[in-house]
Amino acid sequence: NDVLASIDAHDGKVGAYLTLDREDALAQAKAADEKRAAGGSHPMLGIPVAIKDLLNVKGQPCTCSSKILEGYTAPYDATVIAKLREAGAVLLGRVNMDEFAMGSSTENAALGKTSNPWNLDRVPGGSSGGSAACVAADEAIASLGSDTGGSIRQPAAFCGCVGVKPTYGRVSRYGLTAFASSLDQIGPLTKTVKDSAILLETLCGHDQLDSSSIEMEVPAFSRNLSGDTSLAGLKLGLPKEFFVEGMDPEIEKSIRDAVEHCKGLGAEIVDVSLPNAKYAIAVYYIIATAEASANLARFDGIRYGMRLDGKDPAELYAKTRAAGFGQEVKRRIILGTYVLSSGYYDAYYKKAQKVRTLIRDDFTEAFKRCDAILAPVTPTAAYRKGEKTDDPLKMYLDDILTTPINLAGNCALSVPCGFTSNGMPIGLQIIGDAFREETILKVGHAYE
Ligand code: GLN
Repeated sequence: NDVLASIDAHDGKVGAYLTLDREDALAQAKAADEKRAAGGSHPMLGIPVAIKDLLNVKGQPCTCSSKILEGYTAPYDATVIAKLREAGAVLLGRVNMDEFAMGSSTENAALGKTSNPWNLDRVPGGSSGGSAACVAADEAIASLGSDTGGSIRQPAAFCGCVGVKPTYGRVSRYGLTAFASSLDQIGPLTKTVKDSAILLETLCGHDQLDSSSIEMEVPAFSRNLSGDTSLAGLKLGLPKEFFVEGMDPEIEKSIRDAVEHCKGLGAEIVDVSLPNAKYAIAVYYIIATAEASANLARFDGIRYGMRLDGKDPAELYAKTRAAGFGQEVKRRIILGTYVLSSGYYDAYYKKAQKVRTLIRDDFTEAFKRCDAILAPVTPTAAYRKGEKTDDPLKMYLDDILTTPINLAGNCALSVPCGFTSNGMPIGLQIIGDAFREETILKVGHAYE
């Protein structure tokens, strides 16, 4: 009820939610109360969680903030949703995002407008902008987002909350509307690192329905996060390449202060180098668009959502896709089909895959020298709405510090580490080697 009251008070301005079924949420809360009375004690029991509008929840809309999926109802639960139900969490409404998760400001959303709760004239980040804004505005205790190239960490940084991108394969992608299948991961957004750890351990685990999910034990991530803030014995790497040209000096200062703080907690700081990370944007926008062009082929006007009539199937597809997809989605489908087309495949796609391996190898080398890496999440804090909408390239360049992690398949989290002089939150990125979530959560918990 507190959360619903908060939604009533703030969401008119923040615009995080696309849809919310109050009756259903209250019924779930009541069921959770009954489960508790019967002895239920899962830490997620009764916790209201908002869901990014690209995860299938049976019987609810799943629009991906796209006109092409307006009116579509999900016929099944994503695995993460089934896990939340099992734990007794309350599935709150569906929150806004960039269309099909393509964007960094939630301005590519076709079905809603979301503002940064810290300053309504500014963007909440993206693509999980609604997921971050609702947590920051106390309109949910936690939310689920997805991160293909930064979409959990960047909005978390822009809205001053915690967000985790798990290692690729940790969380089942079954029921997640795919953007770039080799990069996508679902993860939590919360107010504290401990809350993220609790939600994450609920989401993780092998799933036969996702062939890329890994069969590996899931540690109780939240187990060691009570009070102990010593970082003694841990080596934290600082990559010089992540203090990029054009970075806001206030962000750089905040990160350097955070590094000093970790040193004060007992960590040893070592220099590491990620020389190929500078190619991450180019590589990411080839691989992600290539995979997106294939994944979005399923929206053909026949199987899901919108359908416009045509004299033959080809015309029906063309008309539906022309009317249903937004500009950025079309741009990426065209880019993706281009880099995959014969004649260009070797020059772009194949080369990008090779550089992806080099980026991953850099991390492997770096993690021989340290337990986790500290870095900024973004070169700038949340900017004014409309500031980058006319220049997609400018928006792409902001992904420079988050995309390398997805390309490498590692895990990383974003934790608030201060404010700019105009009052916008700044995020510290803590990057871990594959399946080292425990380490980054420990560092994040000690730091926050
Ligand atoms: N901003 C990046 C993009 O536009 C990342 C998006 C994401 O992680 N889903 O592709």
